Amino acid sequence: MTTDMPVFLKRIIEKEIQDRKIQNSKKYAAEISQHYQSHQWNKTRFLQDPEHCVIYAATRMPATFGAVRSVLDQARLLDGFTPASLIDAGSGTGTVLWACSGLFDFESVLCLEREKNMALFAQSVLSESHIVFKNPPVWKEFDLTVSDIQEKADLVTASYVLNEVEPDRLEHTVLSLWNAANEALILIDPATPKDFERIKTIRHILIKAGAFIAAPCPHNSDCLNDWCHFSCRIARSKMHRHLKNADVPFEDEKFTYLIATRKRYPSCKARVIRSPLIEKGRVSLTLCTPEGLEQKTVSKKEKELYKRVRKINWGDPFDPGINKLAT
Ligand SMILES: [Zn+2]
Repeated sequence: MTTDMPVFLKRIIEKEIQDRKIQNSKKYAAEISQHYQSHQWNKTRFLQDPEHCVIYAATRMPATFGAVRSVLDQARLLDGFTPASLIDAGSGTGTVLWACSGLFDFESVLCLEREKNMALFAQSVLSESHIVFKNPPVWKEFDLTVSDIQEKADLVTASYVLNEVEPDRLEHTVLSLWNAANEALILIDPATPKDFERIKTIRHILIKAGAFIAAPCPHNSDCLNDWCHFSCRIARSKMHRHLKNADVPFEDEKFTYLIATRKRYPSCKARVIRSPLIEKGRVSLTLCTPEGLEQKTVSKKEKELYKRVRKINWGDPFDPGINKLAT
């Protein structure tokens, strides 16, 4: 399954850049990249002017779209999970909305975003796109880092948002998100070891609040590993390469995530947490298991299993006893 942002979205964003005749696009792209890596978003309230929002969409949306789509693909593996409503907290330029399109059929969508220009940009992209929702998504100006969510939805998402929350406010914010979720809460964050530490803390908070953890780490207690993270490969457009001064035609976006649910879903036995090592006649997997990190090598002699494992990807569930695997 592709995790690339749809071509029509890329075109709309590129047209926005051309129409606005943004002079300093490369400078803005560098500033955004620098701020993104410095973990100082919240203090600076950086993405307030329209031009930064457009450049943010051009440079960061393809990668965050890929990460969100990869996580939603895992959520879709949950048997019978068909949420009818969505609250996307910190919805920014609308990445989660686009990533959900075609996967879920929402009756209602509420986007919570504190930056007016981000929300305006998302709405203008939506008006130009052919994505149709049963009912038009509603935007509400809302700062998750200072207020509690009042509404409820089957699915609540917060993508690349909790890394902006001050540590002493984290538990409160996570519980506000969880309390708004009738069925599931999906959190997606960057993948530095520091980010994984925060996801581990959040996992602990949610389990304590009665949540079941459906993914990624395959059990309902604290993860015993130091760094369960995932990656998706995104094709770079010409515009993206130009803005980022990049030669390589793709980028790898690394991310961490959590899918917390009210209902307990059957858990996989293990999850692949590194790129599988494929050698002649054997495949080696690094797995997160309830007992911690595990290395598993499957040789050609284990015919059925070997055939399945050859197709397995980083991030997929792994269960040697079950014939059906995510592809
Ligand atoms: Zn883990």
